[in-house]
Amino acid sequence: MTDTVVVIYSGGMDSFTLLHEARARGHRVHALSFNYGQRHVRELACARSVCAALAIPHKVIDIRAMGEVMAGSSLTSDLEVPEGHYEEDSMKATVVPNRNMILLSLATGYAVTVGAGAVWYGAHGGDHAIYPDCRPEFVARMDAVCRVANYEPVAVEAPFMALTKGDILARGLALGLDYARTWTCYNGREQACGRCGSCVERLEAFAENGVSDPLSYEAGC
Ligand SMILES: [Zn+2]
Repeated sequence: MTDTVVVIYSGGMDSFTLLHEARARGHRVHALSFNYGQRHVRELACARSVCAALAIPHKVIDIRAMGEVMAGSSLTSDLEVPEGHYEEDSMKATVVPNRNMILLSLATGYAVTVGAGAVWYGAHGGDHAIYPDCRPEFVARMDAVCRVANYEPVAVEAPFMALTKGDILARGLALGLDYARTWTCYNGREQACGRCGSCVERLEAFAENGVSDPLSYEAGC
């Protein structure tokens, strides 16, 4: 199987694993990242260096102008990044309105451009509760519409949909991946904070797998 897929790659651990999953399944990969003004721009730096090392074509689409019209996300605005677990209501502040529909739509246009038959993104089981655009019914409908939106059908797939973050990490560890090459903390500081929802979930996934996270964390966590 050597079909070309566009992988939406943020630089975080889920999409890092997805990128390698695509390669492991024999696909030609084009990686696509988005700069939407996230304060954790370090994710993008990780994405660039990983793609350069793997010789994977990588584009970053600048969608920072979205910030002028999209309110309410602590990832793009000056709101405090909430601390605690993803399942909590406070984490809804991290939702960018209509995020995945916008990103998948751009990625589908890119897929047509590079002749890719599918767009992959890293939605997974742990995301369902708070992110409507990570649910199976959303993926199924985006897949249906992206297959008919152009002369060239493009599938939209979330290969990790049935997995938890811990399962995804287990898959990546089995592939021998180095998670020091990922960044997930929502705070854009020198070290990961260990307290934001993203850090908490990441640390849980490592604990579940009985492995320590190769990233260094701020003191006291
Ligand atoms: Zn953090």
